[in-house]
Amino acid sequence: MSKRKKEKEKRGKRSTAVAAKRRAEEHKSGFANTSFEIPGDVKLFGLKNEKSPRLDIIPYEVGEGNPFADKGELYYERTFWVHRGIGDDQTSYVCPRKTIGESCFPCEYRAKLMKDPEADEDLIKDLAPKERQLFNVIDTKDREKGVQLWEISFHLFGKTLDREIKNSDEDDGYERFADLENGFTLKLGVEESHQGKASWFTVVSVNFKPRKEDYDDDILEKTTCLDDILIIKEYDELKEIFLQTTDPDDKDDKDDKGVKKSKKSKKKEKEEEPEESGWKVGDRVVVEIDGKDYAGEITEIDEDEESATVEFDDGDTQDVAFDDLTEEEEPEKSKKDKKGEDEKKGKKGKCPGGGVFGKDTDELEECADCPVWDECDDA
Ligand SMILES: [Zn+2]
Repeated sequence: MSKRKKEKEKRGKRSTAVAAKRRAEEHKSGFANTSFEIPGDVKLFGLKNEKSPRLDIIPYEVGEGNPFADKGELYYERTFWVHRGIGDDQTSYVCPRKTIGESCFPCEYRAKLMKDPEADEDLIKDLAPKERQLFNVIDTKDREKGVQLWEISFHLFGKTLDREIKNSDEDDGYERFADLENGFTLKLGVEESHQGKASWFTVVSVNFKPRKEDYDDDILEKTTCLDDILIIKEYDELKEIFLQTTDPDDKDDKDDKGVKKSKKSKKKEKEEEPEESGWKVGDRVVVEIDGKDYAGEITEIDEDEESATVEFDDGDTQDVAFDDLTEEEEPEKSKKDKKGEDEKKGKKGKCPGGGVFGKDTDELEECADCPVWDECDDA
């Protein structure tokens, strides 16, 4: 569509455009609405383009449960963890375990899956709690919006902020960036990333600019107590939401526990779907002969569709009736070995996003919410 036509359409359907914009915004914040409350008159800040915003992060008086600051202290962020894609609306819910040390049903469910060698690795990954942060910010180019609330993945901003502070010299004083007096304005370098239809903005650099003016204590009254707004569900309530996951269009895509499977696993299942006979060439099978189990591989399905040619591991070949075939189970030992190997890889060097562990840190979309990000970054 030409730009002109687009403009015309925009004018002609102003109400639609407005509604669409509102929907997009609400949709965006809707993601967060189940994990924190937005005080009525507070606006949400978000990265919308690659232009470098200049933000003043304003401290607030800490409430209950902040992992990095005591109640009553002035501090500048609230870290919390969410499980994404939970419930009917596939929204995010605060993980009580990682956030406040209370038991969490999705975490328990995930722990069980991790012990199951047959479990879907994508699902395990998807269920991992993701680290996020809340800030009170003033957009110095748009001060009229007042102190806004900014909620963002730790991996898209906070991590870079932490790193820049860590790497600064002590006499820079960057760690006092949020102080009302002699604080710093943060100039953020932003990059947009794309993958498929999805796009997102990552803060890739933070420059600390001395603020032109100090803030009065009054500004503290305009801030939100970030610890008070988190919505942390009780164990049973979260369990109910988690297990009631339903998707009317896609009823069959759930396993018996009601968890929606990822598309990838669906595809995998389809590929592995056996032929009508139940057996196909390449299947590993076990045949019981004279009370002893012999393992082998199907090399041919016989024309009668009732038997298969099996090449046994000892080199012998035989026609075996389907009725006498049993699917070979992975030997217990090798299963265990494989798991141990995976675990080792997970710790030492497997990138769940398909990149190079220890090298592609933050290069992939997956990095934003990677379960092994810290290990990868350390490596
Ligand atoms: Zn959890």
